[in-house]
Amino acid sequence: MTQPADGSCIFCKIVAGQIPCFKLHEDANTIAFMDINPVNPGHALSVAKGHWPTVAEIPPEVLADVAKTAQKVAKAVFKELKPNGVNLLQANGPGAGQSVPHLHFHIMPRVAGDDVSLNWEYKPGDMAAIKTIYEKLKAAL
Ligand code: 5GP
Ligand code: ZN
Repeated sequence: MTQPADGSCIFCKIVAGQIPCFKLHEDANTIAFMDINPVNPGHALSVAKGHWPTVAEIPPEVLADVAKTAQKVAKAVFKELKPNGVNLLQANGPGAGQSVPHLHFHIMPRVAGDDVSLNWEYKPGDMAAIKTIYEKLKAAL
């Protein structure tokens, strides 16, 4: 699916071949390459070719293709690197830690004892508050 590139976007430049990358995979809608600031060895990115900033804008079929490419890379990471685990992380907006506003999944191999903090503690929720928000979201679907 075509979508105009953003001239100031680093990932659009990588997609266009204007900035080099260690390219793992490319197909009609996606590209995957190594992250240059890896949290652990093997950290890679699965990126939409078109410039859609977040899940709020990207067409669902393209998002599915980006997820498929992330799965393909994750399988290679499991096979070749044998990590303790792999996180697929996809951030939307600066408040969620997104620094490049061009939709992508991180494929993050995890190593025992690494200090990557993606896990959170269980804190029992207030059922009435959960139900109120549930009702708002359900009505918005
Ligand atoms: P975000 O913070 O948006 O979830 O993730 C953006 C990722 O892109 C970061 O992990 C960062 O290291 C990576 N990144 C930023 N610039 C470049 C680049 O020029 N080349 C590559 N390969 N990765 C980049
Ligand atoms: Zn872009």
